[in-house]
Amino acid sequence: MLTELLVRASDSPTLARLVTRNTVSRRLAQRFIAGESVEDGLAAAAAAARVGRTATLDYVGEKVTDVAAAEEAAAVYHACLDGIDAGGLPAGISVKPSQMAVSTEPERCAELLADIAVAAKRIDAHVTIDMEDSEVTETTVGLVERMQAEGHANVGCAVQSYLHRNDDDVARLSAVGASVRLCKGAYAEPPHLAYQDQHEVDASYARASTFLLRHGTYPRFATHDERLIGIIRTEAARLGRGPEDFEFQMLYGVREELQAELVAAGYTVLVYIPFGDNWYAYFMRRLAERPANVAFFARALRGS
Ligand SMILES: Cc1cc2nc3c(=O)[nH]c(=O)nc-3n(C[C@H](O)[C@H](O)[C@H](O)COP(=O)(O)OP(=O)(O)OC[C@H]3O[C@@H](n4cnc5c(N)ncnc54)[C@H](O)[C@@H]3O)c2cc1C
Repeated sequence: MLTELLVRASDSPTLARLVTRNTVSRRLAQRFIAGESVEDGLAAAAAAARVGRTATLDYVGEKVTDVAAAEEAAAVYHACLDGIDAGGLPAGISVKPSQMAVSTEPERCAELLADIAVAAKRIDAHVTIDMEDSEVTETTVGLVERMQAEGHANVGCAVQSYLHRNDDDVARLSAVGASVRLCKGAYAEPPHLAYQDQHEVDASYARASTFLLRHGTYPRFATHDERLIGIIRTEAARLGRGPEDFEFQMLYGVREELQAELVAAGYTVLVYIPFGDNWYAYFMRRLAERPANVAFFARALRGS
């Protein structure tokens, strides 16, 4: 209930203004957001590399409706790729279709993503298309299928195990050779579209991870859930997949000790690094994922 409220609040422009101007929330957001500039994102990726982790940079922003704003966001991604190249960083990027105005300008969105994919390919970087709410699930899967068909092999897609359709999405994306990032899902979706019971979300995640280990192109397991990570490790060993055949992914500022343990055990661990000044919606989803985060945030606000 609280989770759903917070995820829905992530759409509120009034709350966005209040939270982003408040000094306490700005300070707390720093746990999850690497900073506001491209340089901040690159510095966090360099720091991750120093402790043996790879990275994907996310220029926070979503629900863009005009072409100019989408083009500006695309330019920031090109700057990221230039910085990744200049720094020799083991990093790629993550892009939200709605940040490229997918709903209002679908053709321009596809062009912007294709340009980004080409620039990324030049430096051997991977591009993951983030998965947003269910209004754009089909569009996003279709977009990645199209990009693969057009030869952009370095473009993969995130999928969400809470969706009833997840098994189909995983199969469709694997069939075209797209690398899949499997996550549980961070939006509030209704019961006719998504499992509401965590056990069912986890069972769906485990099922999809087995499918990806068997049939996927370099699966990317995005979770901080130790139980699921254990299941994936066991399943990978059973299917003869080594640590070089897949990776674990975690969010900047979350479960750093677990990240380190997995690196020490020989796994590739990628850190998802968000940066930019439009961090409100991202921050609210991170609060929603963990009740303790909300309690901490509420205490900090009361004390401010
Ligand atoms: C690399 C990466 C990329 C992602 N991309 C997308 C995407 O494209 N689309 C999408 O919908 N979702 C995305 N997500 C978010 C994902 O869907 C989940 O909402 C989020 O990862 C929490 O689920 P979990 O698997 O970690 O399991 P949970 O059961 O939620 O968490 C397991 C444990 O991890 C820790 N934890 C998890 N989240 C937090 C947090 N915010 N703060 C502190 N501790 C936490 C806690 O200890 C918790 O007990 C992404 C997640 C990751 C890691």
